Amino acid sequence: MPTESETDYDPSLGRKFIFVTGGVMSGLGKGITAASTGRLLANAGFDVTAVKIDPYLNVDAGTMNPFEHGEVYVLKDGGEVDLDLGNYERFLDIDMTFDHNVTTGKVYRDVIENEREGEYLGKTVQIIPHVTDDIKRRVRETAAGSDVCIVEVGGTVGDIEGMPFLEALRQFATEQNDRDVMFAHVTLVPHSTNGEQKTKPTQHSVKELRSIGLQPDIVVGRCEEPLEPQTREKIALFCDVPQEAVFSNPDVEDIYHVPLRLEEEGLDEWVLDRLGLGVETDEDRDTEWRDRVTREADGEVTVALVGKYGLEDAYISVHEALKHAGLERGVRIDHEWVHAESLAEGGRGQLDGVDALVVPGGFGSRGTEGKLTAIRHARERGLPFLGLCLGFQLAVVEYARNVVGLAGAHSAELDEDTPHPVVDLLPEQEGVDDLGGTMRLGTYTTDIRAETLAHRLYEADSCEERHRHRYEVNPEYIERLTEAGLVFSGRSERRMELLELPEHPFFLGTQFHPEFRSRPTRASPPFVGLLDAARSPGGAQSIGQPASSAGGES
Ligand code: GLN
Repeated sequence: MPTESETDYDPSLGRKFIFVTGGVMSGLGKGITAASTGRLLANAGFDVTAVKIDPYLNVDAGTMNPFEHGEVYVLKDGGEVDLDLGNYERFLDIDMTFDHNVTTGKVYRDVIENEREGEYLGKTVQIIPHVTDDIKRRVRETAAGSDVCIVEVGGTVGDIEGMPFLEALRQFATEQNDRDVMFAHVTLVPHSTNGEQKTKPTQHSVKELRSIGLQPDIVVGRCEEPLEPQTREKIALFCDVPQEAVFSNPDVEDIYHVPLRLEEEGLDEWVLDRLGLGVETDEDRDTEWRDRVTREADGEVTVALVGKYGLEDAYISVHEALKHAGLERGVRIDHEWVHAESLAEGGRGQLDGVDALVVPGGFGSRGTEGKLTAIRHARERGLPFLGLCLGFQLAVVEYARNVVGLAGAHSAELDEDTPHPVVDLLPEQEGVDDLGGTMRLGTYTTDIRAETLAHRLYEADSCEERHRHRYEVNPEYIERLTEAGLVFSGRSERRMELLELPEHPFFLGTQFHPEFRSRPTRASPPFVGLLDAARSPGGAQSIGQPASSAGGES
């Protein structure tokens, strides 16, 4: 029975929905499986969008620790979200908004605010229907205008936090046409010591799913090797799905190959048929993705990434942006993870043999001295360098200390008592106590100065990139820095947004985060530039040329 709030529901909102749940354990690559499914539907010509449900109580991921939770991804509207949304943006080549991330924190906050405003006057406010209605409303509104909306529920079936969401999706499905909604369950298929694929964990998680009224339409088994025919048979039998609806998602060398594997399994055809979207023919498929991600690499570039978290997930967008530049230029990237702290203790030797250096964004003082050591090394040795956000700010600090001669210069974030706060709090951040969603966030326009490296890279007088910061280059020091040779080649009103050193082969800092707009089929200019410089004996002079004339071996 539709509840009150459903009666005015407009069925022309999102057309088709794929709900993705996870079984056995988290960290299986459920998001990649879901995003890859979306990619295949997009290849078949459909407008695909996605909603990521995170059942945690945080309103957003902005206050979470990247060490535990991975990178905080920033959307164009400034939403600080789970890194899975980055995967959706990269796989689907879309721009999402904050609404595409639904968290328990957001839902409960709204329901409680509504209650205080008297919206449910006279009623007892309950998880069913008030919380579940709010969840359904969010999914519908976010899906508006798309052909297919993929809704991924974070965590694993059976998690207590996920229950209201699964119940909401169950209701949602009963309110829609059967043809318009399907459930995909992504689960682990481990193997025993003798190499036999084990289906018991999958059986259990599907049993759990069914106990809350959900029956998967397809089961995707994450496994080392493709599922054996008898494994498929068993899963089909115990989970009550046709054998053709059991797909394998085996380990692959590169996550961008997952859509190709799933396509070989026929997953897209099955899904299109199930949702009544017609069956595609090979000629109808867009092959840009396949062509790009299977491009043969010619040569390799070693890029050192100096960070404080030793975790790939903490810098996933930077990692991926480098990969995209590699795909664009047809070179393989060898990512070298360098612990900032180990550099501080005279560990410069770790940078020998690397072709380029990236200092990514970050917060807090840990590892700062090591990052400064790395930046100085890059500046003095002519090593191609890209500094992102904190990396940009530290490049200013390093220049102030070692070229301008301002002893003890620092960012006020990292040393409150510095005699030279060359990086200081943004004036509008003065007195901001609330830490959730209060930074300078999201897309702003940067004006780019003509005849600079930045201008050659972007081939435009401005760029639109995403931001996430509280500090900026202190205007009081700009004159001294520029007189000493540092060039600020991009500004956003009074704020310095890009820096470079004209005499250096490639030394670029960005106050923004270009990595968040980089896509496999549309690499980000600063990353492509870094790669070109790393490959080219001619350095930055050849930047902006096609790969063939950018020359240089790895
Ligand atoms: N901590 C710095 C600031 O707040 C840099 C932020 C970042 O790297 N994202 O400005």
